[in-house]
Amino acid sequence: MLADKDRIFTNLYGFQPWGVEHAMKRGDWADTKSLMAVGQDAIIQQVKDSGLRGRGGAGFSTGLKWSFMPKEPKDGRPSFLVVNADESEPGSCKDREIIRNDPHKLIEGALIAGYAMRARAAYIYIRGEYIREAEVLFAAVEEAYAKGFIGKNACGSGYDFDVFVHRGGGAYICGEETAMIESLEGKKGQPRLKPPFPAGVGLYGCPTTVNNVESIAVVPTILRRGPDWFAGIGRPNNQGTKLFQISGHVNKPCVVEEAMSLPFRELIDVHCGGIRGGWDNLLAVIPGGSSVPLVPAHEIIDAPMDFDGLRELKSGLGTAAVIVMDKSTDIIRAIARISYFYKHESCGQCTPCREGTGWMWRVMERLASGDAEPHEIDMLLEVTTQVEGHTICALGDAAAWPIQGLIRHFRPEIEARIAKRRGFVSVPEIAQAAE
Ligand code: SF4
Repeated sequence: MLADKDRIFTNLYGFQPWGVEHAMKRGDWADTKSLMAVGQDAIIQQVKDSGLRGRGGAGFSTGLKWSFMPKEPKDGRPSFLVVNADESEPGSCKDREIIRNDPHKLIEGALIAGYAMRARAAYIYIRGEYIREAEVLFAAVEEAYAKGFIGKNACGSGYDFDVFVHRGGGAYICGEETAMIESLEGKKGQPRLKPPFPAGVGLYGCPTTVNNVESIAVVPTILRRGPDWFAGIGRPNNQGTKLFQISGHVNKPCVVEEAMSLPFRELIDVHCGGIRGGWDNLLAVIPGGSSVPLVPAHEIIDAPMDFDGLRELKSGLGTAAVIVMDKSTDIIRAIARISYFYKHESCGQCTPCREGTGWMWRVMERLASGDAEPHEIDMLLEVTTQVEGHTICALGDAAAWPIQGLIRHFRPEIEARIAKRRGFVSVPEIAQAAE
């Protein structure tokens, strides 16, 4: 379990005001100039050494990603940092807590990250529905300018760095990095084909790195306390602290900063007051936001909550948005609802996604009502494999994986529902009727 002294987000619940004076009392903006003075490559190396992996879902090494940016401006083009605050994954609600209660951690992190990557400015792209959060962010950026922390000669470092806040229009797909860049440029938020990757050709055709809010906000503390401190939390390759967002059938849903690799049972018992109705009532968990496959109760209870632990269970940590479902859940209907979400959010550029998400949702609806033929289960599974990996962006995968997880773990339930609808009565029901 994470000790209080190791918490990065000390105002996660907003018990203190978010403003710059209070943020400074909490340690933000403390001698940022000397953090920058170690040099750009040294900062990147420290972030690499800390083992920080992107907190937006993909889990790619943050320091390594930064190192892909050009060391010298190419053809006079500036470089940019884009901060992804378009938190739209169902179940995810951590970045908004950072923004509304600890925004200066994010702005200070943006300065340091931007400086390390030789970026001229940071664009924070915040989802349109986050109205109050955007108000806080605009005000916090103004405070940082007024204090001289950003802008010309940021923090007295001699480096000029601007921060712009941009409000999105509310499309899930704008959370995909290249769609976000398109949207920032004023175009329709549709993902670009890669390559070229944003580190070569990104925002306005300039080298760009897109990072999640949490990945950026933890950087100043990592540099202050040292990469070894961060790397010492969690398991090798899964280091550091993480904001977990637990929703669904637990007694106290919450967002909490915890050590990576904490067992699922401990996370729920310590912070959420246990499963509603007790541990025997747990049915399944979606551990990383709606796009990752569900994990049945018996597999997840003692699993470490980290990238590798959940990958071994054929799921993923994603954004650590943990959706808990107890035995009152109609699991087939729940996944059908997720399928509808991805059908609705498909940008329509690629045929397998545009047609496939609608097709999969319609079959899922029929499986949920039992109005299907048994052979359609395999047909649906086959279609998910035709969508997965055959699209421009990962939305196709995100639509396919929850269905694959459902069929992998709950096929008997789907078959039973179809049989019941067709008038076949299951053995337990006969036994029940005889009693
Ligand atoms: Fe658009 Fe879907 Fe293709 Fe992504 S996979 S680019 S959301 S159509």
